[in-house]
Amino acid sequence: MERPVDINKVIRQQVEMEDFFTGGFAVKGKTAAPANVERKHRAANPQASAGLDKIADECRLCRKCELGSLRTNAVPGEGDPAAQIMFVGEAPGADEDAQARPFVGRAGQLLDRIIGACGLKRDEVWIGNIIKCRPPDNRDPKPEEIIACLPFLQSQIELINPEIIVALGAHAAKTLLDTPKAIGQLRGLFHEYYPGLGKKPIKLMPTFHPAYLLRNYSDENRRKVWEDMKKVLAELGLPVPHQGRK
Ligand code: URA
Repeated sequence: MERPVDINKVIRQQVEMEDFFTGGFAVKGKTAAPANVERKHRAANPQASAGLDKIADECRLCRKCELGSLRTNAVPGEGDPAAQIMFVGEAPGADEDAQARPFVGRAGQLLDRIIGACGLKRDEVWIGNIIKCRPPDNRDPKPEEIIACLPFLQSQIELINPEIIVALGAHAAKTLLDTPKAIGQLRGLFHEYYPGLGKKPIKLMPTFHPAYLLRNYSDENRRKVWEDMKKVLAELGLPVPHQGRK
């Protein structure tokens, strides 16, 4: 059963999000991530683009697990095929299932703010999930669903070959790192994702899922996510927005 929405909490969070995330998880009066900073862009990747389209078509036809017959739409993922950063969440929710796009609900709005606070645009990164179809009532994905679906994401990662994967939440982090460790232990440190034999490992930063942040909306948790993202920016040689809370 989905929990009833506390509208006052939603409004309060929205106002706080404006305050805290607008422009560099901003702090009143402080500057946002520098806009239009000269950034190193990776060359367009038409081969990856065609490969990603093919995977998206396969996701839409997939019936490898029961979610294939329960979904409205598959949500293959979207973004720049030459992205330096891939954000990987858990599974589509109701909004994503309706729109066939990842992270378009409330958690997605928060993710957009996090990306914006980093001085990036949503279409400059790639966003997707461990599994491509919505589990009913937003339950956790079952192991057999992850096993059936993971090859899609593995192929997407191989095609994009990002410099960094940001794993959003426990499911993404544990699946991609093949570890039982808790997200609290994993986040804040770079780990390595192994794309396969003979391939170079990809740096992976686990952080809290935006939906977890919305449910546990403390300064401390927001600060932790921001610390994680600053490490990602520094690792990529991108400008790290200056921030501090009054
Ligand atoms: N939560 C996720 O993990 N993924 C989405 O696409 C939306 C919400």
